[in-house]
Amino acid sequence: TTFEELKNEYRLSDRLLQNLASATYSKPTPIQMQAMPLLLQGRNVMASAPTGSGKTIAFLTPLINDLNKPSKVGYRAVILAPTRELAAQIYRECVQLAQQTALKIHFQTKANNNNATTGHANKKYDILISTPNRVRFLLEQEPPALRLAEVEWLIIDEADRLMEEGVNNFKDQVDAILAACTNKKRKLALFSATYTVPVAKWAIKNLTNLARVII
Ligand code: AMP
Repeated sequence: TTFEELKNEYRLSDRLLQNLASATYSKPTPIQMQAMPLLLQGRNVMASAPTGSGKTIAFLTPLINDLNKPSKVGYRAVILAPTRELAAQIYRECVQLAQQTALKIHFQTKANNNNATTGHANKKYDILISTPNRVRFLLEQEPPALRLAEVEWLIIDEADRLMEEGVNNFKDQVDAILAACTNKKRKLALFSATYTVPVAKWAIKNLTNLARVII
């Protein structure tokens, strides 16, 4: 399989294909070959694949293709990662892959933005990339500094770390964020390096029409 073949089958945009090519990605990795078609078909996906296997592109490609045109309503996608550094990596790949698409991507963590109220800037943005801690903080402001009612895609990276029990309150934060994404058409994608019991339990509880990919 090549990206070109995926393009024909799932109508990937020419722009996205060019952006993949200019990032010198010529051939999808195994996680991309398996997860991308499912996400492009609108399935909720739980995928586990080792770090470095190309999972970021596996969720960014269907997301960018699906969002297609910029929004006027506010955030349509949220991508969560456990740390600021991981969120920043996703942000960089997302900006590269969404070049010249007019989609607006917002990287927000505590360190780059201490003012809670600036979450209101979300009207201009399509994609929010952040940590669960930061997003929940913004949701808890009075009035909320963030509106997630229009979100069509919630993507959770490093889900095994976020669902780990007793280590932090990531899981509570993710649950609160999921509850704020009230759009009925919302799609969920869970990516992790390892397939753990807490991830599986959370996925079964929260993902309907679930497809699993294990690399
Ligand atoms: P990840 O698993 O998302 O951390 O990706 C690991 C690395 O693989 C990243 O540096 C990507 O730039 C790179 N990568 C992702 N997809 C491909 C691909 N199809 N071909 C070559 N490299 C890729």
